[in-house]
Amino acid sequence: MKLNELYLRDFRNYQQLNLSFDPGVNLIVGRNAQGKTNLLEAIGYLGCGKSFRAQKTSELVRFGGDFAEIHGKLTSQQRQQSIRWVLFPSGRQRILERNGVKKRASSEISGMLPSVLFCPEDLMILKGGSAPRRRLGDQALCQLRPNYDAALTEYTRILDQKSRILKDHRENPALLEILPEYNERLCQVGALIISYRARFYEALGQAAAGYHGEFSGGAEEFSLQYKTVSTVTDPFAPISVLTEQLREHLQCHYRAELDSGNCLTGPHKDDFDVDLTGISLKLYGSQGQTRTATISLKLAQRELMRREMGEEPLLLLDDVLSELDPGRQDFVLNQITKGQVFITACEPGRFTKLGKTIEIQQGQIVQSEE
Ligand code: ATP
Ligand code: MG
Repeated sequence: MKLNELYLRDFRNYQQLNLSFDPGVNLIVGRNAQGKTNLLEAIGYLGCGKSFRAQKTSELVRFGGDFAEIHGKLTSQQRQQSIRWVLFPSGRQRILERNGVKKRASSEISGMLPSVLFCPEDLMILKGGSAPRRRLGDQALCQLRPNYDAALTEYTRILDQKSRILKDHRENPALLEILPEYNERLCQVGALIISYRARFYEALGQAAAGYHGEFSGGAEEFSLQYKTVSTVTDPFAPISVLTEQLREHLQCHYRAELDSGNCLTGPHKDDFDVDLTGISLKLYGSQGQTRTATISLKLAQRELMRREMGEEPLLLLDDVLSELDPGRQDFVLNQITKGQVFITACEPGRFTKLGKTIEIQQGQIVQSEE
């Protein structure tokens, strides 16, 4: 799939932008704080309805703007198609249109314009807390499996409501009567989520092991283990078994959740570990090993999408190449000869000859050349 044209209005620092892209490499250059990452964010959002960095939709609307618009024309499934988003700062429901027809949920455009993002923060993904690792898995899975996207949205919604019950039950004890209903729904949807994740992480780990092996000259063996709630003995078990094991788990924590007023455990705390030849990367990995393993994970994510969809997903490289030494840069650059790629950088450096260069200054194009 290819993004051919993009129109932005009041998105982040872009008042208005009209751009056409190269089907190969697009290099986005500009000094700091000019809007390079914002542009990648818009492209990522267009295809999946999720921002890789904003917490709230309102952040995406330009300061003082009434609404933001992201409109893209793309070639997907061998057809010319379009996706259009309208986002509001006020919390009003966003609008999504596919080929001019209104759609209710982001899962309805799943797979039309998948993308893989790689940014400098990702280089630490295997070292720190679990949230960015979960986000990596969720972003890929939501694009691959519309049903997963729907399940995760539902799970997050119920979890939100349950959190409110846990916070307010002391003032309003009647709320406790509806808590079991929420817990039951969490178990059912949670089981589905675990089941999807188990399969995804297995495939991701295998593909990443291939890249890491190639990269390290076969010296290190990469392996990835999915970790979920303690009562789940086999995440590949049938949904009914997973649901039962989640019930057991929630029962064990029922009291503790009431006392603490928080949703303590569940699939929303899932994680994965990476080992290199049996040694935990998180605990013992060197900086170089961590970088190589992360690149392998990202390339694996892209490969899974390509395999599943039969087309190359967009690759969004935000400032990441400048963080890599020449050997690792080459490894990544060798992988971008296929598919459409968007690279941001402060300096064009060694990438200029690759495709189209777009120069940005304060949310405007100052130069765009083939
Ligand atoms: P760097 O090279 O430092 O990464 P960048 O070109 O990637 O810079 P962006 O992250 O795209 O820069 O952000 C550019 C500017 O956008 C920031 O100065 C920020 O204040 C501004 N900005 C972010 N959100 C909004 C918004 N909702 N309305 C207006 N401006 C915004
Ligand atoms: Mg940036």
